[in-house]
Amino acid sequence: MAAASHKNITAAEVRAAVNNAYEEVRNASGGTNASYIPYLAQVDPNLFGITVCLLDGTLISVGDSAHTFGIESVSKVPTAILAMREYGAVDILEKVGADATGLPFNSIMALLLEKDRPSSPLVNAGAIAACSLVEPVGDADAKWKAITSNIRELTGTEPEVIQELYQSESGCDYNNRSIAWLLKSYGRIYDDPDLSLDLYTRQCSLGTTTEQLAIMGATIANDGFNPVTNTQVFDPDLAPKVTSMITTVGFYERTGDWLYRSGIPAKSGVGGGVLGVMPGMFGIAAFSPPLDEAGNSVKAQLAIRHIMHELGLNIFAASRLCVCQCTPTRER
Ligand code: GLN
Repeated sequence: MAAASHKNITAAEVRAAVNNAYEEVRNASGGTNASYIPYLAQVDPNLFGITVCLLDGTLISVGDSAHTFGIESVSKVPTAILAMREYGAVDILEKVGADATGLPFNSIMALLLEKDRPSSPLVNAGAIAACSLVEPVGDADAKWKAITSNIRELTGTEPEVIQELYQSESGCDYNNRSIAWLLKSYGRIYDDPDLSLDLYTRQCSLGTTTEQLAIMGATIANDGFNPVTNTQVFDPDLAPKVTSMITTVGFYERTGDWLYRSGIPAKSGVGGGVLGVMPGMFGIAAFSPPLDEAGNSVKAQLAIRHIMHELGLNIFAASRLCVCQCTPTRER
């Protein structure tokens, strides 16, 4: 029997796949903008961008890759990393969890079924719990600084709140308010519930671009080493932990379907962004506002799937034991 062939992917091949995905998907229809947050309903639905960040820091972009949009639930990824940086992976597993819920991102039922633990920092309950854990407990300003500094380290760019989105979201966060106080009744929120919820809402309202998210994805894919700023942002041991969380719940109740079809762990946000992590190879991000019923961008999914298929990549395939020609050797 032939051994699995190892793949060597060149930057030129990635560039071709990104361009082909853009052309093939740009006119795809289907999905609607999120409407439960009024700001998101009025974002131009035709915006569409893709970026891949290779592990030598090369950025390959097409379309509206520099357009700033609401990060929304993709923000759960950096704050999960921050909580693990501050408390360690073992403590986060105990305090928040790392399980799939199989239910929508804002499910109260998931929290009730789990009895007390929020399941994962990548669903609303766990993300609010993660915000509550951020040090220093009780100091909203300092916590916010820690959240945004961590994102700046992961993306190389200081993130800014889209004030209109923050106002919009703060005015309709009743479901998340219930989650925050239910966590309180379970003893699973580690700071004031309203303070924690506000931090969560604010981080969801940060503006981002596919370029920034792809760099964050590449940093995770690169064992915590940001290939653009050339800095070790977090302990390499945390990279597989956060990637496992993205793998299990990144697309909420559609996570299994997504992995089955795409072969790449990815995290979505209702702003239309998707962040993908291909460990040892690249970070990828795509953005397009119209969403499917689970809140995942229709075109971003199609684009990333196209790229994975065109490059013949799948995280579960033996051939992923590749040496990407773009992978730098580095000392740590
Ligand atoms: N801020 C949004 C919410 O809590 C994020 C949801 C998402 O992007 N899936 O509802």
